[in-house]
Amino acid sequence: MLILDCPYCGVRCDETELTPGGEAHLTRHGPGSDDADFERYLFQRRNPRGVHLERWRHAYGCGKWFHAARHTVTMQVFGTYPAQTTEPPADIVERIRASDPDWTFGDDT
Ligand SMILES: [Zn+2]
Repeated sequence: MLILDCPYCGVRCDETELTPGGEAHLTRHGPGSDDADFERYLFQRRNPRGVHLERWRHAYGCGKWFHAARHTVTMQVFGTYPAQTTEPPADIVERIRASDPDWTFGDDT
């Protein structure tokens, strides 16, 4: 079972208290963007076998959205952080690189 720490209220919660929100750090494209960018934004998502940055909502708690970094095969959680960030914090990146030295943010686009 997936267990994540909500970075807002500090509660350690299992996945039954959370709602998944898909991939984190999407670049949003709207009116004025070209068709390829808009299609990529709407339909194409990463599905890595490895480190994945995801959005989660503490639905049965504080109700806030946050991001989590985890490994999709081992279910190792590298950390959670507020959703209002454009990239994972340095301490989480350090933990990810300890597990996967070649990992870099945004390299699987
Ligand atoms: Zn919470």
